[in-house]
Amino acid sequence: MEYEDVLKKLKSSGIDTLKIDFVDYGGFIRSKEEDIDELEDILENGTNTAKAIMNYTPSGTLARIGSLGVNSDDFTLVPDIDTLSLIPPFAITIGKMYDKTGKPWEYDLRWQLSNLLSKIKREFNIDFISAFEYEFYVTKENKPINDVSCYEIGGYYGSLIDKFLIELKNTLKSIGIGVMKTLKECGPSQYEFNIKHSDPIKTSDSLVFFKDVSKMIGAKYNYEINFMPKPFKEYPGSGLHLNLSAWSKGNNVFYDEKDDLKISETGYSFIAGILEHAKALTAIAAPTVNSYKRLVRIPDMWAPVKIGYGPNNRSTILRIPTPRFSSISRDLRLEYRVPDAASNPYLLFIAFISAGLDGIERGLKSPKPVNDNAYENKELEEIPRDLNEALNELKKDTVLINLIGDKIINEFIAVKKQELEEYNTIVTNWEFNIYKNL
Ligand code: GLU
Ligand code: MG
Ligand code: MG
Repeated sequence: MEYEDVLKKLKSSGIDTLKIDFVDYGGFIRSKEEDIDELEDILENGTNTAKAIMNYTPSGTLARIGSLGVNSDDFTLVPDIDTLSLIPPFAITIGKMYDKTGKPWEYDLRWQLSNLLSKIKREFNIDFISAFEYEFYVTKENKPINDVSCYEIGGYYGSLIDKFLIELKNTLKSIGIGVMKTLKECGPSQYEFNIKHSDPIKTSDSLVFFKDVSKMIGAKYNYEINFMPKPFKEYPGSGLHLNLSAWSKGNNVFYDEKDDLKISETGYSFIAGILEHAKALTAIAAPTVNSYKRLVRIPDMWAPVKIGYGPNNRSTILRIPTPRFSSISRDLRLEYRVPDAASNPYLLFIAFISAGLDGIERGLKSPKPVNDNAYENKELEEIPRDLNEALNELKKDTVLINLIGDKIINEFIAVKKQELEEYNTIVTNWEFNIYKNL
């Protein structure tokens, strides 16, 4: 679409603001909002600059990207017109980042992911198909809206939030985000949306839009949409399970009819790569101090801690979902259960695909599948217990660092260490109550 056509379309649709989104290294969506009257210049010339380092809010929100200081160059954020989504009076796009010379900015993780995908396509003729499962809580004044969990009769679709869910689903469909399924998750007013599979860039962009749109619509109903990994101690956390299959010439390359689990040798090697890098990957998939309160050793919480894979096993980091009867080859995929919505989706895909590909390139063999309840399995290794341990594992995994790029990883680690240091200085109510009488 030409820029003039875009402008015409926006004006005729009653749009007054264009929101240009990107995701920072702390996992937060950042955006610039431009008034319609300024758009001509931005669409044509990409003159919309953004500062690479933003303020740290008192709550410790991290918005840093690109290791730059207050006096360094801005990067330019140009709307990717292919992602233009109209939700009047807003239009939303994902921004592409350029440096001052007009080249794609090396810290742009979306650009880096698309480079990786093109390279894999060139060298192996493989395309990936992916999907995220979004879990989130709907809250009011930061408390669940109702106290009905999935263990209680009537927990499904409390009528209170039906209207919100339907509006959310229809709005997503109107901007081309196919919703396959919505369901009540286990916690009170915890929900899950399953989005139609796509390539990893679109899957990641859709997550950004989903967060934006759900919050916008939630606000109309006075609801907060909460994606944090573990908002309530007593209820299960919210995951962002990543589903992935690999395709070549119309065939699912993870699939082999003859194998018991229907997994091909390539599929097993990909799995072995994930298991080999599992500890380092955890830092990217579960990147906040709060993430590790979700990944607990309590079976009822359904969040994995053991490094392994198994058919339909929800207690290992990788689950091989049982395919539906008639469509085994199409449905065969890996579900990575560690991620939560604090991860930068582009970085998550870069890391996960690089780790799996390393397994394929080195012809790694995966261990036996885990069929039992892995929480009780003493032989299996565990993922790191907290963010500090995970970051140290990431630092040690030089193979993965080389595959992702050390500049990006160093920046990610720096952002996360800063978050961790701030967290370590906080005196919680828990410790105050326990230690005040020493
Ligand atoms: N909410 C769980 C988690 O934290 C997952 C539940 C499920 O398997 O859908 O990952
Ligand atoms: Mg779920
Ligand atoms: Mg799942």
